[in-house]
Amino acid sequence: MTEEIYTQTETLPSKSVPSKKKDPVIFLDNVSISYPVFGGIFQRQIGEVKAVQNVTLEIYPGETLGLVGESGCGKTTIGKGILGLVPIKTGQIFYRNSRIDEGLNQKVRQKVQMVFQDPDASLNPRMKIVDIIGEPLRNLMGMTKKLEMRREVLNLLEQVSLKREHLDRYPHEFSGGQKQRIVIARALACNPDIIVLDEPTSALDVSVQSQILNLLEDLQQEFDLAYLFITHDLSVIHHVGSNVAVMYLGHIVEKGNISDIFYNPKHPYSQALLSARPAVNQEEKQKQIILKGEVPSPVNPPSGCPFHPRCFARTDDMPCIEEFPSMIKLSDTHSVACHLYTEE
Ligand code: SF4
Repeated sequence: MTEEIYTQTETLPSKSVPSKKKDPVIFLDNVSISYPVFGGIFQRQIGEVKAVQNVTLEIYPGETLGLVGESGCGKTTIGKGILGLVPIKTGQIFYRNSRIDEGLNQKVRQKVQMVFQDPDASLNPRMKIVDIIGEPLRNLMGMTKKLEMRREVLNLLEQVSLKREHLDRYPHEFSGGQKQRIVIARALACNPDIIVLDEPTSALDVSVQSQILNLLEDLQQEFDLAYLFITHDLSVIHHVGSNVAVMYLGHIVEKGNISDIFYNPKHPYSQALLSARPAVNQEEKQKQIILKGEVPSPVNPPSGCPFHPRCFARTDDMPCIEEFPSMIKLSDTHSVACHLYTEE
């Protein structure tokens, strides 16, 4: 799959997306999202958390884009921005050529779904499974007949390897893996084009994680689904991803396919992130890069390159402290935001 990468500061003509053989399902054009910080006696706004800054991303049909980075780097905020759960400050978000950052209409709400990390928090403990999965069928698809709804919910349960006997049970009667299957079935109810998966396996046992990942892969092939897979676990993305975007302190610092990011990472942060994976032998342990210092606060991010206070690769003659590095295209699939690289 060819992917044209745009620099983080480039903008496209208003209300249009680039012409491609295959249009992206979701296109984020230079998107920034901030949260206000309140303080003082009168609880006035005294600052803002710059959660996402100038992010440009495209997600294509049938593709899994892995969004990776440390906790608090803005991954989940991007997912919420796509779903319209948080307002964006600047930039534009498109669903198949239609702008959605000003509000999602009913059709887009059917086509863009989200699966959260904790299935317990996603399922109403007082509702039966048939009603939980039937809710989007009723509210978004306009299904009113009970029998028709039961039949459709059963069909969805079977797609996630659950059975007829589960229809009238309550969430507490299921294991963690089964609950996540129910959440996935509910996300599938409206026949979506894209599902935002926010750490969908991190609350599950390792053995159950692989079952859920295999299920997601099967569903993707069957329905040509696109996934935005948000995770801090690189091995998960290695298993299911097509492309990867690495985030640090609200910025995308590197984008590429699996082979670019896992076997030829260019950004010092990507290299450190990959080297921090559990080592299986002494040689790998010796190659680990231990980053110094803490992640800076997104309320008061560093000047220039956001990674410069922790970077092991910069030298004094580089402009890292003053200048923000723009995204450099290294190949058709691979791009990086770092002053170590220049456009050919
Ligand atoms: Fe390090 Fe400079 Fe590259 Fe930032 S731009 S990652 S500080 S070398």
